[in-house]
Amino acid sequence: MKILFTASECVPFCKTGGLADVVGALAPVLAEKGHDVRVMLPLYSAVPHDYVKEMQHVLDFEVELGWRKQYCGIEALVRDGVTYYFIDNKYYFGRSYIYGMGGDEHERYAFFCRAILNALPLLQYQPEIVHTHDWQTGMISALLKIQYQHLPFYAEMKTVYTIHNLQYQGIFGIPEVQDVLSLDNSVFTDDKLECYGCANYMKAGLVYADEITTVSPSYAEEIQTSYYGERMDGLLRARRQQLSGVLNGIDIKEYDPEHDPLIPARYTVEDMSGKAVCKEELQKELGLNVNPDTPIISIISRLSNQKGLDLIDRVIGEIMEEDLQLVVLGLGDAKYVDLFSWAEQRYPGKVAARFKMDGALAHRIYAGSDLFLMPSQFEPCGLSQMIALRYGTLPVVRETGGLRDTVLSYNEANNAGNGFSFFNYNAHDMLYTLRRALYFYRSQKDTWALLQRRGMTGDYSWMHSAEVYLSLYRDMLGKQEAPAEEEKPAVEEIVAETPAVEKAAPAPVKKPRACKPKAEGEAPAKKPKASKPKAKAKKEE
Ligand code: ADP
Repeated sequence: MKILFTASECVPFCKTGGLADVVGALAPVLAEKGHDVRVMLPLYSAVPHDYVKEMQHVLDFEVELGWRKQYCGIEALVRDGVTYYFIDNKYYFGRSYIYGMGGDEHERYAFFCRAILNALPLLQYQPEIVHTHDWQTGMISALLKIQYQHLPFYAEMKTVYTIHNLQYQGIFGIPEVQDVLSLDNSVFTDDKLECYGCANYMKAGLVYADEITTVSPSYAEEIQTSYYGERMDGLLRARRQQLSGVLNGIDIKEYDPEHDPLIPARYTVEDMSGKAVCKEELQKELGLNVNPDTPIISIISRLSNQKGLDLIDRVIGEIMEEDLQLVVLGLGDAKYVDLFSWAEQRYPGKVAARFKMDGALAHRIYAGSDLFLMPSQFEPCGLSQMIALRYGTLPVVRETGGLRDTVLSYNEANNAGNGFSFFNYNAHDMLYTLRRALYFYRSQKDTWALLQRRGMTGDYSWMHSAEVYLSLYRDMLGKQEAPAEEEKPAVEEIVAETPAVEKAAPAPVKKPRACKPKAEGEAPAKKPKASKPKAKAKKEE
């Protein structure tokens, strides 16, 4: 199949969050399976010079944006079997930031979407599937349907729109959007692009894409409710037949404690001694008291209210009364920078906070920590908890979205679980769960080791989910299923069917991916499943 990904960020070129990881990891996996996969990205000034040097100039042309004509260069680079096209325009993308600040986001990403569609015939590249990601590329489906699909070149193209985070929608004034995209009033109605008096790029994707996916089965359910739906729940319920949840994977080559060149010592399930070295080095590096017995709890995150940091704010004093160390790596809202800066000064030797984007430090923290705290208010999928599991760092999470689909809270009654979780968005529930985790760390070493082993041997690769996407694409194109490749389980299961694990209600979504950790010694599931959301961990309390 000819598959085009369009996204505003992608590792290793530019990253602000999980979207970049997903696009950067999924595209090569699909290419590895024999498909023609290409990715179109903005050429931000943040793209490292080493990659820019490798790029070939393919073509340039002018893009009409309303009354403006803007230069568009296409630079290309091939990597891991994927062709990456970079949309070059210094005015829009040669800035010191990736998002925000300029007040012209509507124009920057209108340009991006228009440039992509106009580039295709010039590149003589006719994708069968155009897979768009998040609001920055939401307008592609709308423009395609409204302005392009009467042309034979575009007529057969099918679009997928993936919601990585419903909170960020790209909401702008209607006249401004009309001005850049030449869309008339007839498409600014509440069943199309208008949304509470504004133009909404996310809604453009949700209304016009042929299929909608999001990044976990639980989030696919949640966003159909008003609590999580960010005012799109009605539309999502209306399009539920086109909505499915496909759990993200992580790049298991990049996040591999056995071979990771970025950590001070490597380790495996059989020999965990390297993890102790990583911990000691981390304590030294960050100016923490060096003590192998003091648990390190880490947070690596965008510092935004989504991530549940208000819960930590509420009980920081009580958390710090415990014998533990807290490590924070993040960028974001000033109030959280203030919180963790204060904590670092208030608790010297016990708290270390670094406010920057630093991939290598993130690896060292995942490897050197004991617990990973992620009490998100909502979490479409979340990659960090899977990365933490892979490094034998046990997650403490709130049961929402993808956290619910990947972390099963340890249950003493049947020995099931791979981490710790709580349900209510409540600071003291989080504190209780954290203390519970600390109890197992200090007093139940065998259980701790068992949970680490389960985490480290879970399958978080893209193999299963890539198959789910391919089968979605095939359905859309009316193609036959290709002969099955090597069958692999999704995430290994800890407990398949135990009385203590409640089954969630049947999914109201079309093809969500079931994702359960595996029981010790249990045979892997025979077939990749695309059916129900994961069984929800029973609350221990
Ligand atoms: P989101 O996409 O909502 O930001 P995810 O958990 O899906 O959250 O993905 C976050 C990714 O970004 C993870 O790979 C995490 O390790 C990484 N990350 C977040 N903050 C930083 C940071 N300050 N430095 C390095 N990596 C970071």
